[in-house]
Amino acid sequence: MKNNPIYLEPIINIQDLIDNAKCYEVVRKLRWPDGNVKCPLCGSSHVIRHGHDETEPERQKYHCKDCLRYFDDLTGTVFSGHHQPLKTWILCSYFMGLNQSNLQIAKELDLNEDDVQNMTEKLRGDVTVKKPKAKLEGEAEIDEVYIVAGHKGNPEAVKKKGRKGRRNRLKGARGRGTLEKEKPPVLGMIQRGGDVSLIMLENVKQETIAPFIQGTIVVGNTVVYTDEYNIYGRLCEWGYKHKSVCHAKGEYARDEDGDGFCEVHVNTIEGLWSLLRSWLRPHRGISQEKLPHYLGFFEFVHNVRRRGKALLASMLNLLLN
Ligand SMILES: [Zn+2]
Repeated sequence: MKNNPIYLEPIINIQDLIDNAKCYEVVRKLRWPDGNVKCPLCGSSHVIRHGHDETEPERQKYHCKDCLRYFDDLTGTVFSGHHQPLKTWILCSYFMGLNQSNLQIAKELDLNEDDVQNMTEKLRGDVTVKKPKAKLEGEAEIDEVYIVAGHKGNPEAVKKKGRKGRRNRLKGARGRGTLEKEKPPVLGMIQRGGDVSLIMLENVKQETIAPFIQGTIVVGNTVVYTDEYNIYGRLCEWGYKHKSVCHAKGEYARDEDGDGFCEVHVNTIEGLWSLLRSWLRPHRGISQEKLPHYLGFFEFVHNVRRRGKALLASMLNLLLN
């Protein structure tokens, strides 16, 4: 065994095998598909090349003949203004698509976990801001879950609450929670066979949930299915056709129109909750400050209907445009 050369090989870092110049080519292609470089500062196409970046020579610089400003391949994107080379950001995005934790990514890329955390937070935040807003119609389901989320990594917020930091894992209040009780509700809306929309809320009072529902689900002909929880009691008033299942009575699906198919249920959104729980599992101790970005990223992944390596193109396209 000892003489087998395979045991003498040094560990190869995947980063060293990736060509930074190719990463820039990909970025230019996604940003300016017709090869026509546009100034991100004023929108003009009256642009000339203007040398390369000093620290990263693969990065092309440009001069805009209209607004007279200078920019480069990354200006105005989340990848701009950092010391890590572009290939590191792209690899980081790729591993995020595989739902790896910061620690796992740090190990893969031989980086410090804090650096990776900074990168993934920026990427997740930008995806959350830029993702298209879901519009649901036809048949939709609404439900809520409660996710334990404290103030990890945010001692200021803990101080404000007037309590000491925790040494043990946060367990969360029993039953239905609130943001205050460190078990914020997440409201989920899903179109059957379509997109999903998730939002973390302070509580699930009717007046809290109404604007999010009305801003997401098209009123008029949409049939909305929920359980019997009374926060959903005014959906008809808000302009929807509303049908609910009564879980308390042991009812999980009901055939109301008599076609032999039990259409009144919330199984679609409940299936999504189990996907969400397993998606969040590798990322231990997500704080309530960061949970909205995890939800936003999950929503994006779900709605583009792509997983793993196929997700990278969708993610880069969103981040660059
Ligand atoms: Zn310009």
